[in-house]
Amino acid sequence: MKVVEILFYDSNHVKLVVEMPDPNCYSTKHAPHIPKLLFKLFPHLARHRCENENGYSFRRECQATEIPHLFEHLIIELQGQVQRSGTLKGETQWNWRVDPKGRFHVYVEYENEMLVLGAIRAAERIIQALDRREVDAVNVDEEIRHLEELAKIGTSFKSKTPAKVMELAHSRAN
Ligand SMILES: [Zn+2]
Repeated sequence: MKVVEILFYDSNHVKLVVEMPDPNCYSTKHAPHIPKLLFKLFPHLARHRCENENGYSFRRECQATEIPHLFEHLIIELQGQVQRSGTLKGETQWNWRVDPKGRFHVYVEYENEMLVLGAIRAAERIIQALDRREVDAVNVDEEIRHLEELAKIGTSFKSKTPAKVMELAHSRAN
């Protein structure tokens, strides 16, 4: 699974274009080890609310769901572990009559732009490592610490007025 596009739009939504390297292997049915390992590393995921056609809990849904849907929940989970915020929502869509098979559109809410960017990359790395069954390569505490640093930068950046930010950009250019 690879993020090929990140689009920030309005003040608290990000849209991602995600592609599966093998368009026929996009479901956890093809890779049941991914949700199994992921729930071990992030037990709180089991408490996520998830609206799905079957009315299943997220854990049950994960037995047969699109891997980018798992990715969507992981980005939200990582943000929630770093910064207390209201409920963040997400959505995973695809339409293979228009797009090539294996392409997904993942929408995620955020409050801190730097944090969500870091969370997207961390979640991508984690899913890829679990796909290869390299669970030891994932250090959750270290990822969270790193995201906390990014969140701090994001918070200080947000507190500056747009005029100040422009001024800074200008003085740096000189
Ligand atoms: Zn869901």
